[in-house]
Amino acid sequence: MKFSPLIERLIESLRCLPGVGPKTAQRMAFQILERNRENGLHLANTLREAIQTIRHCDKCRTFCETTLCALCSSTHRDSALLCIVESPMDMSVVEQMGTYRGLYFVLMGHLSPLDGIGPEDIGLHELDQRLSQNIIQEVILATNSTVEGEATAHYISNLVRKRAIKVSRIAHGVPLGGELEYIDTHTLVRAFAARSEL
Ligand code: ZN
Repeated sequence: MKFSPLIERLIESLRCLPGVGPKTAQRMAFQILERNRENGLHLANTLREAIQTIRHCDKCRTFCETTLCALCSSTHRDSALLCIVESPMDMSVVEQMGTYRGLYFVLMGHLSPLDGIGPEDIGLHELDQRLSQNIIQEVILATNSTVEGEATAHYISNLVRKRAIKVSRIAHGVPLGGELEYIDTHTLVRAFAARSEL
């Protein structure tokens, strides 16, 4: 059954969210309209503001609403140490360990030639520029241990070695094919401690 054009549009719009199929989108739409109009409006306003305001940090590429994110602007971090992750979520997972004191570079994805995602798309040009500034002394590759994550780590390790900078890869305890965001903190702490130089 078709609903009114505006309801159909609302349902269709909600389907852009990950994991939301037609049925869930319908339930969400009716829940908002029936019981949650105020929160729905709040969601709409926040979404608009976030989309218009949030950008990428000039230095690490994570999401933030300022030129530099809080981490990159901090004076309490070790700027000689750079951890490379695939996503802002992975960055937050590494931060949750509470032991890493260096800075980050967020790829916002991984190399995936089949999907047309090459080195430029994951910011490797910016990364190389950052490496050329002679500040970073060690790079820790914390990409996922999926096929794409491994291939990306391999590609970046060559880039880093060309600059004669130490590069290591987190390994132990991270299951093959595992994504960082699903790994518990203790396992990740061990994986960091046991990183091996490439
Ligand atoms: Zn930053």
